[in-house]
Amino acid sequence: IMEHKPTINFGAGPAKLPQSASVDPRRFACVTNIPDNYKVMFLQGGGSGQFSAVPLNLIGLKEDRCADYLVTGTWSAKAAKEAEKYGNVNIVHPKLDSYTKIPDPSSWTLNPSASYVYYCCNETVHGVEYNITPETNGVVLVSDMSSNFLSRPVDVSKFGLIFAGAQKNVGCAGVTVVIVREDLLGHALQECPIVLDYTVQADMNSLYNTPPCFSIYIMGLVLEWIKNNGGSAAMETLNKRKSALIYDIINASNGFYVCPVDEACQSRMNVPFRVGKKEGDDDLEKKFLDGASKLGMISLKGHRSVGGIRASLYNAVTLEDTEALAAYMRQFQKEHQ
Ligand code: PLP
Repeated sequence: IMEHKPTINFGAGPAKLPQSASVDPRRFACVTNIPDNYKVMFLQGGGSGQFSAVPLNLIGLKEDRCADYLVTGTWSAKAAKEAEKYGNVNIVHPKLDSYTKIPDPSSWTLNPSASYVYYCCNETVHGVEYNITPETNGVVLVSDMSSNFLSRPVDVSKFGLIFAGAQKNVGCAGVTVVIVREDLLGHALQECPIVLDYTVQADMNSLYNTPPCFSIYIMGLVLEWIKNNGGSAAMETLNKRKSALIYDIINASNGFYVCPVDEACQSRMNVPFRVGKKEGDDDLEKKFLDGASKLGMISLKGHRSVGGIRASLYNAVTLEDTEALAAYMRQFQKEHQ
């Protein structure tokens, strides 16, 4: 995936990458299949940077400068808000009261003149994950896969663009993977900052500006680890088993644990749940977190905007780790019900 050759670095910049910041799509192929007519870029600015980069590069694909957005959680809501700066944004479904489901595709009104259709494949805060690829009748499909990238196989050929911040499943913060179909390049708006211009970055193998070398290096190691452990298909098997362990306990708890998300779109990456009752019992949830922390299980507190508990089961969380959480949940229910 990356070539590691001992080198003497006479470069003027920070530690140089073994080769360049470019990863040939064919090298990525051992973990996920990327057709030859796609460019893979490693950019900075995080997932949030892509909330701007996507409209700046793609909303001009058609004259109307319209884009369709599916808003199923905090991250797609932020992306839609950012896109409004650059064109007309159409939220394709009735507004949701709570981010706990994916509106039925029969309720979507897609605009055939839209430049692209955008969705967030896994809403990290709410634990809402698409198990379908939205059908767009030929309109370019764009997906934020920041929190489920390489957690399962993806048919890249269905997408115009996929982006993912590395920090969940493929490394550490600092680098964002952007996979874009080549024919979508060359349409950036005039005001697009040059570091976000896909055409410039693709032409220069992500080296227009100094790349985040260390984050890319770590990502190379993680990709190797994924490859050596069976690729994205094996990650999917493992992630299904891990998440099922937790959802099974929730479902068998007679309402002691409650996951607010519709079963059809419960995330394998982020499992949100309340303790004690549907809206959560604050004291019990605090006890749950304190007890978990004493056992070395940390960062289980739900996002501040939703509260409750959230177990994130990214690729690096092992089956054994998840079993430890499952055992704790069973024990906690026995003691506090
Ligand atoms: N998209 C999703 C799905 C995320 O989970 C996050 C961050 O957690 C972001 C976008 C924003 O990423 P960043 O913090 O790298 O800007």
